[in-house]
Amino acid sequence: MVVLALCAPGCAASSLRERVTPFPPGTPHAVPWQLNRELLQPVNKRIQFVVEILQGHLPEPEALDDLVRLAARYGERPASWVLSGGPGAPVRALDPDTTYVFIRYVGWRIPNFGLSFAQQFAGRRVYLIEINQSRHRRWRSSVLPERRLEEQTLVHEYGHLLGLPPYDHGYFQRYPDFSGGAHCVNPDCPLTKPTLRSILFGIGNTAFRRRFLEDYCAQCRRAIEAAKAYWRINGQPYI
Ligand SMILES: [Zn+2]
Ligand SMILES: [Zn+2]
Repeated sequence: MVVLALCAPGCAASSLRERVTPFPPGTPHAVPWQLNRELLQPVNKRIQFVVEILQGHLPEPEALDDLVRLAARYGERPASWVLSGGPGAPVRALDPDTTYVFIRYVGWRIPNFGLSFAQQFAGRRVYLIEINQSRHRRWRSSVLPERRLEEQTLVHEYGHLLGLPPYDHGYFQRYPDFSGGAHCVNPDCPLTKPTLRSILFGIGNTAFRRRFLEDYCAQCRRAIEAAKAYWRINGQPYI
């Protein structure tokens, strides 16, 4: 089978890398680049993900559990997820000691797997991820279960919120069109764009190595470490 032969054991991720493209004018070219200090430093007491199901079937809870663990590790403070309107969810006001990420399961209201953005709400910044869980169900298989597909999208969108990747290993798929955001050139990164190359790599990676794209690639992790080191020395306001 051609697809699997391409990515059999020994297949190097480097051979399937995308090409780095220029970033928009004004993009920082020095540490800490455009990485998001609020999500990467213990600037408050906790990170809370508030899950809303607006359309479609229920989400995979283990995918959310994994995202929470990743967010706590990179954010250096406790993280949790709650159902909107459920115990522990914000009711009328947002807690000033909490960073909020709202995850909306929107089914086919969006055509893509997911999207993410930050916005001002009640005089502060909050984060949003929208995910089309119905599209994930279409792609599930015995090799790549739905829970792993949802996890990859959640970690991918969270990576955008972290500000990954820096200019040195990112690309714009439709360059010089910058719409769609920057993605990681490495196919072994959940922040890669789901292109034919990365899908081929993903199939080989999961079928032969039983590995999933659940954490950022080595280059993205190094960028995060460099930004954290910079902030530890130069601490500056994050908003
Ligand atoms: Zn993306
Ligand atoms: Zn990466």
